[in-house]
Amino acid sequence: MKDCIFCKIIRGELPTNKVYEDDSTLAFLDIHPVTPGHTLVITKNTDSYNLLDISEADWLALARTVHKLAPAIEKATGADGINIMMNNRGHAGQVVDHPHVHIIPRFKGDGLRQWDHSSYQDGEAATIAKKIRGML
Ligand code: 5GP
Repeated sequence: MKDCIFCKIIRGELPTNKVYEDDSTLAFLDIHPVTPGHTLVITKNTDSYNLLDISEADWLALARTVHKLAPAIEKATGADGINIMMNNRGHAGQVVDHPHVHIIPRFKGDGLRQWDHSSYQDGEAATIAKKIRGML
């Protein structure tokens, strides 16, 4: 059984600024916010690490809480938009090995960059789409 920093938060061993809790999820402010109101939604189940091994039930619970909180966070912070983000595995930026979704309020002129985009070579997109379909 893993014992990460978010597991400690669930057990009440570390203080947080809690914004929401239900039977399956907990939401609290990120300690190092991208913008004010940056919120983390985590599973209370401690048996998975990220989206790649989470149960469907826990994922649906996370999604339900994100859906509930995003409009409230936008209103409460006076944000002009919201980014939803999840880092899965270290190479994708995951630092805490516990399923968590970032809700990040965005403000006009906040200067944060969006993703860079690229282009496919001829036929490349069709090949990748076929490979993905083959894994389902
Ligand atoms: P990740 O990079 O794994 O997607 O995001 C982990 C997030 O957890 C980071 O944004 C980081 O600021 C936040 N974080 C790490 N430790 C703590 C903590 O003890 N309390 C809170 N509230 N947030 C934390």
